[in-house]
Amino acid sequence: MTSTSESVLTQIPFFRYSHLFNQYRDETLAAMIDVMERGAFILQNDCAEFERGIERFLSIKHAVGVANGTDGLIIALRAAGVKQGDEVIVPSHTYVASAASIHFVGATPVLVDCLDDHLIDPDAVDAAVSSKTTCIMPIQLNGRTANMTALQQIADRHKLVIVEDAAQGLGSKFKGRNAGTFGIAAEFSLYPAKVLGCFGDGGVITTNDDGMAEQVRLLRDHGRNDSGLVVTWGLNSRLDNLQAAILNVRLKHFHQEIERRRELARLYREGLDEVEELLLPPGPDDDPDHFDVYQNYEVEAGKRDELRAHLERDGVRTIIQWAGTPVHGFGLPGVRITDLPRTRLLFERCFLLPMNTSLADDEIRYVCSSIRRFYGRAD
Ligand SMILES: *Cc1c(COP(=O)(O)O)cnc(C)c1O
Repeated sequence: MTSTSESVLTQIPFFRYSHLFNQYRDETLAAMIDVMERGAFILQNDCAEFERGIERFLSIKHAVGVANGTDGLIIALRAAGVKQGDEVIVPSHTYVASAASIHFVGATPVLVDCLDDHLIDPDAVDAAVSSKTTCIMPIQLNGRTANMTALQQIADRHKLVIVEDAAQGLGSKFKGRNAGTFGIAAEFSLYPAKVLGCFGDGGVITTNDDGMAEQVRLLRDHGRNDSGLVVTWGLNSRLDNLQAAILNVRLKHFHQEIERRRELARLYREGLDEVEELLLPPGPDDDPDHFDVYQNYEVEAGKRDELRAHLERDGVRTIIQWAGTPVHGFGLPGVRITDLPRTRLLFERCFLLPMNTSLADDEIRYVCSSIRRFYGRAD
């Protein structure tokens, strides 16, 4: 019996929540204490500073902090005029929150198929347009922006608005332009495990339209204007000032965070390129039209369930998005069940490998060699 490193079990959790705090610990603590000493909790300077920071980061006119991404979608749809009886086209490969937001403005989600990069299929959108359609909701999924040129052409042809669910897409670009700047409005989630995460729930809505911005500001704060007078029905959905102060610290480091995620994606590619049983996400340098930020690293794999069990035995935790069920698979009332062949195949094969900035290069290499061993490749 020797006590070599062989006896030390490698453990790679899917996400290290405590890393969020430990990463920029001193800076974050100082910012939090400052807010608490000032007693600045609701709609104070830190929230405004965060909103201005997002506006600069995205080159967009308006950013409005809200309580979470789902509220952001509901408010954006409502401000965009989507209403009772409307149909909104959305891919089925998304979080139920996208479809739920459509439901909660009284409209019907019409679920469509995806492409090999797992994002919305513009041809499927075109085919799904009906006389009731008023809006397209693309999902900027896994940190990649959909083909917004194709979607905008369809929207223009049928006089539809686009509301982007960019919950997973902060910092990603299509043809040099940021996710969250294409639609009439967009929403980002600031949930801890998102690319820019806070220490709880948070979200932000973006728009270049002054009227939309005004509506959104009213809707997030009880319909009250700057004088506190109620001018419309509204919600209580404000981004907490304490969360905003934490986000201001994280936003300063966000470019490095994105670069690190792209590096990790390169390492996965290096380690897994020759494994033809796997379909990997597009590489960071594959397509000049796309700048991806790798919110998630979603692969498709032959013998997926066996592979995941093998990784688990090697201490590597993986997950399948949405508990393995696309939105049209939940049997929710009002959702038309259609066969979406690409999505169906995807959900027999897809899962997420760990992807976050707490990961060391060696941890990615360890995951890759475990996968290579599973498929009988040399280490
Ligand atoms: C996270 C997420 C949301 C919802 O954001 P919350 O902040 O959790 O409400 C919506 N859509 C997608 C695609 C998401 O990943």
